[in-house]
Amino acid sequence: MKTLLKNCKYIVTQNSKRQILENQDVLINGNKIEKIGKNLKADETIDCSQNIVMPGLINLHTHIGMQLLRGIADDMHLKDWLNKKILPAESKLTPDKIYVASTMAIQEMLRTGTTCFNDQYISMNKVADAVKEIGIRAFLSRGLVDIDGKNPTEKRLKETDELANHIKQLKSSRISFAVGPHAPYTCSKNLLIKSQKLAKKYNVLNHIHIAETRKELADSLKNYGKRPVEYLESIGFLDKKVIAAHCCWITKGEIKTLAKRGVSVAHCPRSNMKLASGGIMPLKELQEAGVNVGLGTDSAVSNNNLDMFEEMHTCALVQKHNYWDATVAPAQTVFDMATINGAKALRINAGSIEKGKLADLVLLDANHFLLQPLEKNRIISHLVYSANGSCVQKVLVDGKQII
Ligand SMILES: [Zn+2]
Repeated sequence: MKTLLKNCKYIVTQNSKRQILENQDVLINGNKIEKIGKNLKADETIDCSQNIVMPGLINLHTHIGMQLLRGIADDMHLKDWLNKKILPAESKLTPDKIYVASTMAIQEMLRTGTTCFNDQYISMNKVADAVKEIGIRAFLSRGLVDIDGKNPTEKRLKETDELANHIKQLKSSRISFAVGPHAPYTCSKNLLIKSQKLAKKYNVLNHIHIAETRKELADSLKNYGKRPVEYLESIGFLDKKVIAAHCCWITKGEIKTLAKRGVSVAHCPRSNMKLASGGIMPLKELQEAGVNVGLGTDSAVSNNNLDMFEEMHTCALVQKHNYWDATVAPAQTVFDMATINGAKALRINAGSIEKGKLADLVLLDANHFLLQPLEKNRIISHLVYSANGSCVQKVLVDGKQII
């Protein structure tokens, strides 16, 4: 079926010239964009004369199964937060609760303009079921931890295989399987190496947390005599399929390694600040080295919402603040991080509005008060510095309108 986004007030294309088009149509055929132009025809038409049409935002790092834990613990030291509140609450999360949490989080993401997310958690079969039912796009991995001795390595790896099978059975091109070793400090060397082999075997992404806190860095130096990225490099873990969340505490040498191996980084500024990670991901140096950097919200317990507009806003501010330089993280760069860079990391044909791309699109209310005064050369500024999820009016994923 063909759907037409008719007479779009503005189209933020994110094409190579970063063009913003006025009063044009977007023709969708099946799940892809077929054409952009004027006076196009289709079976079904959506009037977009009062909309800004933009690519759906891509949340490159989250744990949506934690949605039910939102608000149970804030303003605490990381260790107490984790050990006294989060882990005990997590132990009571049944698969059915994870399913409910997932439906809540997916609705929240869609309503705030996110059309694709990269997730790592427990009971991922249930997350996959919710994704299938509601219609968002997702990359799902079973979070793997074995260093505490409670979780046998082989059992976790088997669960990863089971998730791969479950996702295969769902037969949806919107749902992809990934491998998810939690972090170098929660996984044994054996588990990290086996995870990497598994990702290679399935030819899928390998989603991990790296260098989130200063304690992680200190422990890594103490236990392995190496910083986190150096350690992962020494065991042959890093390659272009790795998506590394956080990377707050890394050196220029580690940045070189990430660039050499083609690792993508998921910047999660609000989570890092809320948990007082201290270090701020060095965006300038990562980009100068050619590392692909996207944006993620992390979970609703460390954020506490999944609104990627707010994440963009915070990213721009914290990066400027960190470098004492207001020219760092300009709006277009940050908008790229939340769209095309996310798509590049996940290796999907999305993140921009161009012929042949996936029709994952967000229609903003052009009359929303946060988008005024509205004129073409202010749109990217508005999207990063002023808008939030309440500006979202309609959302299409895979060519289908679901909000
Ligand atoms: Zn995380």
